Amino acid sequence: MTLTIALSKGRIFEETLPLLSAAGIVPAEDPDASRKLIIDTNHPDVRLVIVRASDVPTYVQYGAADLGIAGRDVLIEHGGSGLYHPLDLDIARCRMMVAAPEGFDYEAAVRHGARLKVATKYPRIAREHFARKGVHVDIIKLYGSMELAPLVGLSDVIVDLVSTGGTLRANKLAAVEHILDISSRLVVNQAALKLKHDAIQPVLDAFARVVGEAP
Ligand code: ATP
Ligand code: MG
Repeated sequence: MTLTIALSKGRIFEETLPLLSAAGIVPAEDPDASRKLIIDTNHPDVRLVIVRASDVPTYVQYGAADLGIAGRDVLIEHGGSGLYHPLDLDIARCRMMVAAPEGFDYEAAVRHGARLKVATKYPRIAREHFARKGVHVDIIKLYGSMELAPLVGLSDVIVDLVSTGGTLRANKLAAVEHILDISSRLVVNQAALKLKHDAIQPVLDAFARVVGEAP
């Protein structure tokens, strides 16, 4: 019985290595150095599939992967149907923020009931945030480099992930509102959890021990 784990390259892969190692799983290759999309491990029955961060929930939802690791941002945007999220792994931590050009009076714009143009890769999170505040917005969906949008007049503000704030500062933007704390979670296909329980449970237990949520 093969266990397939969906991961994305970069920070999630790096920060997942110690969790895998606690479960006795060591990847045979580094996906950042290899072009392979299916990576074997020391464990004959465990393989990793390397997918785009935002595609992880889709692979797990349809059972193409049994387990996956995805940011809370990605899980909210995806909607999470067919997925079980047993564990917050406390990795890839950052914050979802509203950011605006330095000098833009966000509070005043909100107070005066201005209609805001919001550029973001996270339309669902942005829409729900401004709906809760009762602020009217036009959401402009982008796929990257949100920081550029207010600088060239595409939007008034952006909704984006911030960790150090370095990218915002480099583009003369400032965070003006916190929306959510983000970290990555383990997601499990609900059918696999039943059918492959004996293979999945030890991995869940090992991850839970590392993050201090021992069963
Ligand atoms: P791509 O960069 O290929 O467009 P992506 O931005 O979705 O894809 P990553 O940048 O690797 O992929 O981010 C993956 C996850 O890591 C995000 O979904 C988020 O949960 C988290 N993350 C993103 N940016 C940061 C950050 N600056 N610091 C910490 N965690 C982050
Ligand atoms: Mg990115």
